[in-house]
Amino acid sequence: MIPNRQSLLLHWPLAMASGFLVFVLVLAWTLYSTQVQLRSATDARLLADSARRAAVVEDFLSEQEKLATQLAGSHEIEAYLTNEALGMSPRYGLNANIGFIEQRFQKTIERMSLRGDAFLRHIGFVKRDGAAVVAVGDGSIPEIGDFPPISQPPRINPRAWTIEVIAPVFFKDVLVGAIATTADLKALSRLLIEADDRAGGYHEFLLIGDGSHALSPRDASANFDLVERSLAELPANRLTPAVSERKGFDGMLALRTPIKGAPLSLMTLASEAAAYGGVAPPAYALYLAAFPAALFLMAVGFERQRRRTAQLKNDYAESDRRRHELSQHNDALSEEIALRKALEDDLRRKTRALKETNADLRIAATAFESQEGMIVTDAHHRILRINRTFAELSGYRADELVGKSTALFNAQDDTSNLYAEILAASELSGRWQGEVRLRTKRGAAIARWLTVSAVQDDSGAHSHYVKTYYDLSERKEAEAKIRELAFYDQLTGLPNRTILVERARQAMAQCRALKTYAALLFVDLDQFKRLNDTLGHHKGDLLLKQSAARLIRCVGDGDTVSRFGGDEFVVLLTDLGASDVAGAALQAETIAENIIARIAEPQNLDGHSFRCTASIGVALFHDDGQGMDDLLKWADMAMYEAKTSGRNAVRFFDPTMQRLVEARAAIEADLREDIARNNILLHYQPQVDDQGRLVGAEALLRWPRAGGQAPSPVEIIEVAESSGLIIPLGDGVFEAACRQLVEWARSPAMAGLTLAVNVSGVQLHHPGFVERVRKTVQRTGADPRLLKLEVTESFEISRIEEVIAKMTVLRNLGIRFSLDDFGTGYSSLSYLKRLPIDQLKIDKSFVRDVISDPNDAAIAETIIALGETLGLSVIAEGVETEEQRAFLADRGCRVYQGFLFARPMPAEPFAQFATLFSRVKPETGSPHQGSHLRSSACL
Ligand code: C2E
Ligand code: CA
Ligand code: CA
Repeated sequence: MIPNRQSLLLHWPLAMASGFLVFVLVLAWTLYSTQVQLRSATDARLLADSARRAAVVEDFLSEQEKLATQLAGSHEIEAYLTNEALGMSPRYGLNANIGFIEQRFQKTIERMSLRGDAFLRHIGFVKRDGAAVVAVGDGSIPEIGDFPPISQPPRINPRAWTIEVIAPVFFKDVLVGAIATTADLKALSRLLIEADDRAGGYHEFLLIGDGSHALSPRDASANFDLVERSLAELPANRLTPAVSERKGFDGMLALRTPIKGAPLSLMTLASEAAAYGGVAPPAYALYLAAFPAALFLMAVGFERQRRRTAQLKNDYAESDRRRHELSQHNDALSEEIALRKALEDDLRRKTRALKETNADLRIAATAFESQEGMIVTDAHHRILRINRTFAELSGYRADELVGKSTALFNAQDDTSNLYAEILAASELSGRWQGEVRLRTKRGAAIARWLTVSAVQDDSGAHSHYVKTYYDLSERKEAEAKIRELAFYDQLTGLPNRTILVERARQAMAQCRALKTYAALLFVDLDQFKRLNDTLGHHKGDLLLKQSAARLIRCVGDGDTVSRFGGDEFVVLLTDLGASDVAGAALQAETIAENIIARIAEPQNLDGHSFRCTASIGVALFHDDGQGMDDLLKWADMAMYEAKTSGRNAVRFFDPTMQRLVEARAAIEADLREDIARNNILLHYQPQVDDQGRLVGAEALLRWPRAGGQAPSPVEIIEVAESSGLIIPLGDGVFEAACRQLVEWARSPAMAGLTLAVNVSGVQLHHPGFVERVRKTVQRTGADPRLLKLEVTESFEISRIEEVIAKMTVLRNLGIRFSLDDFGTGYSSLSYLKRLPIDQLKIDKSFVRDVISDPNDAAIAETIIALGETLGLSVIAEGVETEEQRAFLADRGCRVYQGFLFARPMPAEPFAQFATLFSRVKPETGSPHQGSHLRSSACL
């Protein structure tokens, strides 16, 4: 019950809407029926009105017809016709009849009136042949048409605004003529006036024929021409909305009432208001009903919406409840799953553990059957198992040993407590290892490396012992091999650096203890690289081996000869047999000289006799606290010194040498920076011919080193060559020289001067040298014919072909070559002939003593002669005195360079010098001129 009441409560809007709707519907229906009744009453009244008035018009018309018929049958007409038929003379007898007829017609016209006005306008008697017998009134006899005009309806003549009625005239039942009456149509309108008195918005008029004319009551004379044909087509006797183009007519209610017996209609037009007054159209009642209906529909809609919402709410609550249930169910399931997972994991873990255990067991079993002899004992060292290797090793079968003590194998002598020690250590720490002697069944004692490992039970106590007897013989061999590989040189079999360093340390300690001296000798084979390059590695290896053997023969038993790689050997002399430095040095030097001598003996390399020399650097030491690295470095430096001093020599290290080396490193760093910064200068030293003419200059490198002493050009070149800086340096010098030539070309005093540029052998060998020279010449625009490259014989003989090729390419560009320092190298005539050079330059070392030393004089002379033979010009450098110049000139040397003329100088003073020189034209061979110039240049 409660839900019902609740639902009732819930449905109140719908209930109210329904109630309201019913109420309004009833109201609307009542209104509607009232309206309809009211309207139909009005309609009926209108219809009745119209019918009544139409009847009046009909009456009137029938009256006229009746009149015409009466006249047609009147005795006057009959008398006339009888007399005529009797053949009476029309002139006398018939005239009287006609007079009577006229009188009758006249009276009729006068008598017929409509509301006091004359109505008939004309009456005529027409014979059948169309001749008018009598005509009274105004107007003419109407057209009668075909006889007999049997009961013709009244005819409307709209043009004349008349109504014509024609009645036939019979004489003795023969149609002989007709009576035609013509009435004033407009008189009819008077019948309508009364109707027009009604309220406004109301029109009544007569519609004639097809609707083309209308007769209005208001203005009797008005002719509504072409009123509305559509009005004539309206249904008769029914209220319909008028369809009209005429203003004021459209939208009105129209009623057409036809007039019987005539082509006429009575038209009534009325506006709604005029017709029905305040009565609203019944549709309004429907509109009224529509509003609550809409309300009701809305209420229904609301109600449906409300129900749907309620339903949704219910559904939601239901799904919520289900979800809740489901989630509870899920939780239970998850727990179940987690539980199962845990169980599975546990199972998996156990399986894995089992597998591992199995694997362990298998591994253990495999390991047990390994190459090494193994036994397993219980905690009391009683044998439980032995493996096959152990059975083979010991000569026992397993069943002979099980249950026995391992003491059975003990082969240590009685005094040794080793066995007891092994047992004690095993029990205490669970492990022991060391070398033992194992007694076999046969009684032999064999050496084995024993390891004992205890197996622990769950409580940590030793439950078993595993004893493995390793065979050490192989391992010992391998160790020896490894040591040999690690510490000995494979080629010569000499100890390597590691051993040497170790022994040197020991020697150091010994020196400290005994207050003696030891020495490190750094031995480097000269030209080993060249041998390797020319004769091949195989011969190189042979040389190294033989040299190593010779070295060993030179030193004592306590000394060590080691190889550091390449052709470097380091000898450690431990027993120099003296406690004073001088004595030790002397001793070391003796040994070193002996080495030099031995190495220098010819060596037979696979049938190829070869002479090799060595350079040796010596570093003495006793406990001065020097590190090994320092010692080795010093010996190396001393060796380097020996090499630069001309090879095949012994040099001792001393601290000044060390400083030199450090200074050298500083020079290299500074030089690198200054080359990059282009802080390198060129000085120019004039070259003069025997006519005293300036013919050219040599460009000489100068380095204005900031913050340090500038090394000599020779040193600079040396550092540059050993560090590779010679390439950028040489390129820079060459480019500067080219630019200088271009500048000289602009001055008449210097335009033709040649410029000699020094080129190191390293530069010549460098790839791309030719290309760089060519490009620089092109870029600067220097005349290549004025360029002279001074090369020394320092290039590698093995690459002589390459050098010749490069020089040839440059020579084809126009560049010339001068062979510098000629006479100091081991000039070989064979290639001298092939080198594409233009000039030989006598080295200043020969020029210096050319006057005093006949040897040098001979060399100078030979060079000049050689030049002549080979067709090369000869220039002498280092000419300082007039005597030297004269001597050289006397022998045929035509060009000179030296302090006699000028020292090398910067570009600007050189330009002044050249200008002076060109102005003061020296006389041929005048020495004073040269001196004069030299002094002025120095100013
Ligand atoms: P070098 O090519 O033999 O040059 C001649 C050297 O003799 C120059 O020494 C010059 O100053 C010096 N000298 C000239 N006239 C006399 C004289 O009358 N008496 C004496 N005692 N010496 C004279 P500098 O300038 O010290 O150059 C030394 C060496 O440095 C040059 O010897 C050359 O080998 C090398 N050098 C100089 N500049 C360059 C360069 O740009 N490139 C290369 N690769 N080497 C250069
Ligand atoms: Ca030179
Ligand atoms: Ca020279």
